[in-house]
Amino acid sequence: MKRLSILGSTGSIGKQTLELVRNYPEELSVTALAANASVDLLEAQVREFRPGLVCVYDLKASEELRVRIRDLSEITVTDGMDGLLSVAATENADMTVVSVVGMIGIRPTIAAIKAGKTIALANKETLVTAGHIIIPLLHQYGVSLYPIDSEHSAIFQSLQTLPGERDSFFAGHPSVKRILLTASGGPFFGKTKDEMEHFTVADALKHPNWSMGRKITVDSATMVNKGLEMMEARWLFGLKPEQIQVVIHPQSILHSAVEFTDGAVIGQMGTPDMRLPIEYAICYPERKERIANALDLFTVGKLDFLRPDEENFPAFALAREVLEKDCQHGNAGTTLPVVYNAANEYAVARFLAGKCGFMDIPRMIRSAVDAHTIKVAPTLTQILDAEQWTYEELKRR
Ligand code: MG
Repeated sequence: MKRLSILGSTGSIGKQTLELVRNYPEELSVTALAANASVDLLEAQVREFRPGLVCVYDLKASEELRVRIRDLSEITVTDGMDGLLSVAATENADMTVVSVVGMIGIRPTIAAIKAGKTIALANKETLVTAGHIIIPLLHQYGVSLYPIDSEHSAIFQSLQTLPGERDSFFAGHPSVKRILLTASGGPFFGKTKDEMEHFTVADALKHPNWSMGRKITVDSATMVNKGLEMMEARWLFGLKPEQIQVVIHPQSILHSAVEFTDGAVIGQMGTPDMRLPIEYAICYPERKERIANALDLFTVGKLDFLRPDEENFPAFALAREVLEKDCQHGNAGTTLPVVYNAANEYAVARFLAGKCGFMDIPRMIRSAVDAHTIKVAPTLTQILDAEQWTYEELKRR
C-alpha cells in the first residue's frame, strides 16, 4: 500500500490523483490533503478518503471546514504555511504529491524531501526557481522525484530505455544528446503579435488539446509554460540550454522525446490526458491498466512538427535568454528565473482580472527581468525576496 499526501487536492492534478486512488483502493491510500480554500470540494474529499491530516491554507476557510467536519473527530485540520509543511512531511505518508500552483510549492517540497518522502512533482516553480537547492537535497536525503508534467514524464519514460536501475537522471547522462520538448503552441500559435494585442481572457482560456487550470492555460497561450518547462527540464535531466530543443507539435500526441548520441530518438506518445503521467509518477515503475483513452493512430492520421515562433512569442524567447544567463553560473542557480516566473504570475493575474492586455504579459516580464540585479546561488530567503522585489517593482510602474 502506497500512502499519499496530496498538496493541492482540489486543483486539476489533485482531483485526477484522487481519481487514481479511487481506481486502486488496494494499492493506494490518502494520508493527508491540503488545499487553498475550496471548502465544499475538500469536505467531500475528506469524507470519501478519510485522511488523518488536512490543511486548508486560507485561515477562514479552515475554520469553516473544522465546523463542517465536527463529526469526524479523528481528523486534524491545520492551516497556513505551517499546516502545509506538516501535510508535506506527515509521518504516515510514503509519497508527497506536490500539485499546488506557484512558488508556494518550494518550502513544502523541501520539507517533504527532508522527511524522506518520495516526491511526485507537478509544481513547476519549485525546480524553476530553486532547482539548485532541490537537486542537491534529493541526493543528500536519497529521495526520488518523479515528474508529473506530461513532457517531463515523457522524457523520463524515454530515459528508461537506458541500462541500469537509475530512477533519476539529474546529473545528465552521457548517452543523451538532447531532448525534444514538444509544445502544442497554445491557442494562438500562428497569430502575430499585432493580432494578439486584442485577445481577451476568453480567447486565451480556449486550449485546443489539454484541459487545465486557468493560470497554466494563459501560460500556454503566451508559451511561458514552455519557457518554464525548459528551465525545469534543465534541472531534472542535467541538461545544457543547447540540449533542449522545443518543437511545436499541434496534435499533442508525442509528449516529448530524447535524442541519443547514436541518433536514435525515443519518445512517448499517447492521447493528451494528464492521467497517464500522474499514474506513471505515482505508480513508477509499474504500468497500470489504461485509464486514459487509447491512442488510435488511424484517427490521428498525421503528426506535424514546426519550429517555435520566437518573434511573435517574446516571453518564450526571453525564457531561453534567462535560462542561458542562469546557466552561465553553472549549477549555482540565480534569481533570474525567480523574477521571470514572479513577473509572469503578476502579469497573468492582472490579465485574468481584465486589468491589462495579453501582450502586456511579455512586456511586464521583460521589464522586470531587465531591471533586476542578479544574485548567484540564492538562499531560499533570497529567492522569496526576489519574488517580492518583482511584485513591488511591477506594482510601482
Ligand atoms: Mg506540460
